[in-house]
Amino acid sequence: MKAGVITPGVPNSYRVADMAEPDAHGRVLFRPDLIGICGTDQEIVAGLYGEAPPGDPALILGHEVLGTVLEVPPESQLRPGDRVVPIVRRPCDHCYPCSLGQWDQCQSGDYTERGIKGRHGSLSERATASEDFLVQVPAAVGDAGVLVEPGSVVAKALRQAELAQRRLPWVPHTALVTGAGPIGLLATLLLSQRGYAVTVLDQVEATSGRALAAKAVGASYAQGSQNLPSGALFDLVIEATGFSPLVFEAAAWLAPGGAMVLTGVTGGHRQVVEDTNQFNQRMVLHNQLMVGSVNAGRQDYLTSVGMLERAATEHPGWTAALITRRVAMADFASGLDHQPTDVKVVVTVAKT
Ligand SMILES: [Zn+2]
Ligand SMILES: [Zn+2]
Repeated sequence: MKAGVITPGVPNSYRVADMAEPDAHGRVLFRPDLIGICGTDQEIVAGLYGEAPPGDPALILGHEVLGTVLEVPPESQLRPGDRVVPIVRRPCDHCYPCSLGQWDQCQSGDYTERGIKGRHGSLSERATASEDFLVQVPAAVGDAGVLVEPGSVVAKALRQAELAQRRLPWVPHTALVTGAGPIGLLATLLLSQRGYAVTVLDQVEATSGRALAAKAVGASYAQGSQNLPSGALFDLVIEATGFSPLVFEAAAWLAPGGAMVLTGVTGGHRQVVEDTNQFNQRMVLHNQLMVGSVNAGRQDYLTSVGMLERAATEHPGWTAALITRRVAMADFASGLDHQPTDVKVVVTVAKT
């Protein structure tokens, strides 16, 4: 079967290759329909990240997936034709959180991830997964099911904030989302659904598609921090740009008792001059919290599915409009080239 692969560590090695059919024994066989492309794929294709399965020279990409079930093992709860999303991460076999099924909290670093680390992804004509690691997506969600995985990252971020904030009496009203990319916009959707008054901060024009998408679910939009309401403080900040100096800038906009969740990943090194005394003083005197959040567990995938299903009713077309460009498997590299109007670029896997 045809699959989009890279050779780990070799920059720009992406190609469509003939790969062995996946092992379907005791597993659910599905046809990947849509594959989302994100910054992680960019890093893998650049040779900075990514690991093939043991003994395999190539890694099949594709971790943001919407597929259609083709065949199921006996006693499966799924049926051919069901739409499914595979969970990205698999637990290691020797850390405490993984032993409890909380692979997104793995402490050993020895987890594997489909299409990223030590495990093939789904950018291929067919793929399989253990049913334990598949999440069913209702038909009403449509192609936006490809957003379940990025949505799960947002769901976990909010779950982490809410868990951590049980440390104090906290009735949050206002939230700031930094970054109006796919993660930021999905965070905006989820927070709006949960009743937060959301402000989205990005650099793009207020008339751009991304700013309009934020406003369409009831958020306010600020182009640049100078356009934030003066003196505004937020109960919750979700940092979704990965632009690390913004982490420190945004910490100054936290309300007393507020929490900030960091979801962006940054490679390399960047140094900025910060007034660390002020940072320290605010954190201490205002009982503030910063927490990092990566990947997602099954419950977060389910939250994401629920979010997208509700959006399909309350804001028809909103989630589908986040898919701004579709490319063929052979043109994956062009999907990595960020264009100004892009939110989520997806690969349409050719049907065979
Ligand atoms: Zn991704
Ligand atoms: Zn682990």
